[in-house]
Amino acid sequence: MGRVFDDLEIGEIAVQLDDQEPQDVIAWALEELGDRIAVVTALQIDGMVVLDMAAKLRPDVRVITVDTGRLPQETYAFIDEVRERYPQTRWEILFPDATEVSEMVSAQGMDLFRRSVSQRMFCCQVRKVRPLVKKLRDLDGWFTGLRRDQWASRAAIKKVELDHDHGGIVKVNALADWTNDEVWEYARSNDVPIHPLYEQGYTSIGCAPCTRPIQPGEDDRAGRWWWEQGAPKECGIHCPIETGTFEHEAKELI
Ligand code: SF4
Repeated sequence: MGRVFDDLEIGEIAVQLDDQEPQDVIAWALEELGDRIAVVTALQIDGMVVLDMAAKLRPDVRVITVDTGRLPQETYAFIDEVRERYPQTRWEILFPDATEVSEMVSAQGMDLFRRSVSQRMFCCQVRKVRPLVKKLRDLDGWFTGLRRDQWASRAAIKKVELDHDHGGIVKVNALADWTNDEVWEYARSNDVPIHPLYEQGYTSIGCAPCTRPIQPGEDDRAGRWWWEQGAPKECGIHCPIETGTFEHEAKELI
């Protein structure tokens, strides 16, 4: 265990960092948490910008991603491309528990996520959230690509905050006040690797069966779980309702 912060302390730091550039926020976190913080990314554009900034400050920064077993082939190829681009970064590719996946799909089918919102969230829990939550227990902090204008549930995020859903570690949302245009401008001007599915009209990229390109005028996350009505466009890792109440409900589904 490294540096531990309390709510008051991290609140004061968040105020100090709120008008700072993302690189300053990332530099602060790397200085404070060193090897105990990692970039956690699904390889979307926001996460890639954070990775680029962090790798410029610390070339051997840790990078964590989850292979849910249902990712598009383009994502697998892209992971290798990114690793070549940042050769010193240290990657950890997480997998879901094989027994949990086996029990889930044996009982409910390979594509259970089409049947109900709770089954979709259960699939996200088993394939993505649980492996990541387990890994977060070994960290003192994580870098995310979250931004306030991505989705209503993200509107109040701070650039640094204590993540009480995951053991009170430091969650660093360095791009919190950036717009989508600012992210893309940085990516293009810094030659950041860009996931190839963006060229095909995707604006948010996740598992292959649960992600599609958006239609003109739709919200950026409309291509995720598009068949659901009124459900949060979240997998559960950033959403306390799903990691708490839902997990209990989901266990009943096995
Ligand atoms: Fe399962 Fe779809 Fe969630 Fe991937 S995005 S974990 S396939 S429900």
